[in-house]
Amino acid sequence: MGYVGEDIPKLGFGFMRLPLTEADGAEVIDIEQVKRMVDAFMDAGFTYFDTARGYHGGASEAALKQALVERYPRESFQVATKLPAWMAKDADEARSMFATSLEQSGAGYFDFYLLHNLGENRTALFDDYGLWDFARSQKEAGLIRNLGFSFHDKADEFERVLEAHPEVDFVQLQINYADWESESIESRKCYEIARAHGLPVVVMEPIKGGSLVKLPDTVASILHEADRDAPLASWALRFAASLEGIVCVLSGMSTLEQVEENVAVMKRFGPLDAKEHAAIVRAREALDALPVIPCTDCRYCLKGCPEGVRIPVALASLNMLIAYGDEYRAQENYDWNAEGGEASKCIECGACEEVCPQHIAIIDELKKAAAKFE
Ligand code: SF4
Ligand code: SF4
Repeated sequence: MGYVGEDIPKLGFGFMRLPLTEADGAEVIDIEQVKRMVDAFMDAGFTYFDTARGYHGGASEAALKQALVERYPRESFQVATKLPAWMAKDADEARSMFATSLEQSGAGYFDFYLLHNLGENRTALFDDYGLWDFARSQKEAGLIRNLGFSFHDKADEFERVLEAHPEVDFVQLQINYADWESESIESRKCYEIARAHGLPVVVMEPIKGGSLVKLPDTVASILHEADRDAPLASWALRFAASLEGIVCVLSGMSTLEQVEENVAVMKRFGPLDAKEHAAIVRAREALDALPVIPCTDCRYCLKGCPEGVRIPVALASLNMLIAYGDEYRAQENYDWNAEGGEASKCIECGACEEVCPQHIAIIDELKKAAAKFE
């Protein structure tokens, strides 16, 4: 027997970074452009769409309805969306997000429904609000076909969630060749745990939010030497899609050109061969050698910080600038993950520097982060 989603074409369209335009002085999703992108994607034979209650300030699901659901037969595509318990003030509000998603997307049912962004202190909220039982009841009612969760934390926490929730049908993990062996993301370890539990995997961030198409020349040249004609995106997509047990590889596409490039790569997708794998390993080693801040995301510094500063988030955002020069992605990472624990809250008590095993000058780095991102 095959696995859930085995027959789905292996590129998924992420609705988190849609093109924007101006209307009445405000920035809104450029829905006509999204329609063109959806058409190019569907025409090429791809069918999986990934949105979330929280994307684009809640407007992504409605964009999906306009650009896809109202324009194509429902059984010709799959819809995935997500419930962000950490955005709700209580259990009732969290549960009500499901009905809102159904209404906004017009999807009628969800092929894939995810509890959004488990990990760290967010995981317990989903239990406290009874959302696992709630989602199971929606599945029994036929409104969810496959239930899963997306995850941003370390492998041991991932294992713990899976042991507590054997009802999961699939998982969504952050996987790309740059983070495969990373101590902060633990892509490989999480992937291997998912597979040991027999779970199919939806891949998010295969291009690391776009960073892997903006590689420094020293890294890009390694891949170009291995294959002069292969676009940088193709290395990233093919690395993730070559893994066994993948439902699909999501790409948060913002332009028609990105759709065309990605579908061209994935239409004639073949797994990486040994020579190509070796080139990826060399590229990863070159990325690892860049002069980034040596934070391993061990989080020892967090325990004693009186201000709750999200130190590793600030350092990771700075590293995105150092390694990739990727201002958009660095700011996005900071905005999403540092909220409530911004670098500017630091009172320079020094408690974090005393415990940091990497001896990072945290206070100085936080000043840089505050100046850059706030
Ligand atoms: S120096 Fe700043 S970041 Fe470090 S523990 Fe003190 S307040 Fe927190
Ligand atoms: S203690 Fe140091 S290495 Fe560990 S997360 Fe904090 S800054 Fe990073």
